[in-house]
Amino acid sequence: MKLFRKAGPLREHLLQVRMTGIKIGFVPTMGALHNGHMQLISASRQAAAITVCSIFVNPTQFNNPTDFEKYPKTLGDDIAMLEAAGNDIVFIPDVSEIYPEGTDHLQKFELGYLETILEGSSRPGHFQGVCQVMERLLTIIDPQLLFMGQKDYQQCMVVKKLIGFMGNGPELITAPTVRQPDGLAMSSRNRRLSETGRQQAVAIYQTLSYVKASLTPGPLRKLVADATNKLSDAGFTVDYVAIAHASSLEVTKTWDGNTPLVCLIAAFLEEVRLIDNMVIS
Ligand code: AMP
Repeated sequence: MKLFRKAGPLREHLLQVRMTGIKIGFVPTMGALHNGHMQLISASRQAAAITVCSIFVNPTQFNNPTDFEKYPKTLGDDIAMLEAAGNDIVFIPDVSEIYPEGTDHLQKFELGYLETILEGSSRPGHFQGVCQVMERLLTIIDPQLLFMGQKDYQQCMVVKKLIGFMGNGPELITAPTVRQPDGLAMSSRNRRLSETGRQQAVAIYQTLSYVKASLTPGPLRKLVADATNKLSDAGFTVDYVAIAHASSLEVTKTWDGNTPLVCLIAAFLEEVRLIDNMVIS
């Protein structure tokens, strides 16, 4: 596996690769890698000839400084996992490599409705940061295929929009959420939970499963309230439980019995903010 820390040499190398007609797959991450990330690496390895993984904890997408400071870092293990998985190139830049002009006057993106709901409203500026880093990484790496996880449902929609703005961008391939045997979605932030917290955290998956099993056409208000109570009873401080149209993410209060829906949850446990979602129809 080749390791690059500088954007210039990586870009140069990948330009050469591209000229030979080789397909490049890209998996952006913030490190503290787990099987969810590894599934994306494996999907890329199957579909592309060269897989590039980036590890970069992007400061501009953190609205909460403590969350940024406490973000888990396991670089040695990450590199070993990528090597074992047959990843071809890992890009581990410094902040100055991604934002050579600093972070004060970065580009703003017109994300519209997507930025006004759920993760957008709960984490002001978060999706601007996601777009800023993705725009830079996609420009450096210029992959044909981009692999991201359904775990970050809204982020996938935002990045799809960004790719539309950039024009001639990669095809976005969304992979299903990888879960632990009890259902807890794998997440780098799970490392910040105590052993007891990890046991409790499965309540998010159980709540999503409950919503899916209980969904009937008509008003959704009671279902959402029940789900919120379940999470509170399990020890969570709930940020949101929402049901939205799966394709547009338009939050809805009723179901017509036909439109595909997704239930999305964000909740705090032991001061760690966890998110998860499930397509429920
Ligand atoms: P992160 O390192 O958390 O920024 O995630 C990097 C990529 O891995 C994103 O596209 C995430 O959606 C994806 N990802 C994170 N957790 C999972 C998971 N449990 N299953 C599938 N993909 C995931």
